[in-house]
Amino acid sequence: MKKQSKLFLKKNPTMQNFQQYVLDMENEREFSKDILHNCLQMGEEVGELFKAVRKEINIQIDNNSKVGSVDEEIVDIFIFLCAIANKFNIDLEKAFREKEEINKNRIWK
Ligand SMILES: [Mg+2]
Repeated sequence: MKKQSKLFLKKNPTMQNFQQYVLDMENEREFSKDILHNCLQMGEEVGELFKAVRKEINIQIDNNSKVGSVDEEIVDIFIFLCAIANKFNIDLEKAFREKEEINKNRIWK
């Protein structure tokens, strides 16, 4: 029998809520806790996103290949991004703000 999921994401979640959700998800689904494995999985998901984009903009893809939707594949990447950030104890909101302060002062050519 399928186990009932205890995962819950509240309405209007903060980035920390997303990161906690992914941590809980990894525990509930007994996903790999290995960072390198997560990086490889995220790389695969990037490939899936690109394939979904190709399909969306009508670039020929192999008819036999399985392809998800762009939104689904973006979520898959986001999940692994959170998983990797969690393993380095990175607060994604804080890191985003700090990096953007650096980027704002860069000269973009
Ligand atoms: Mg995927």
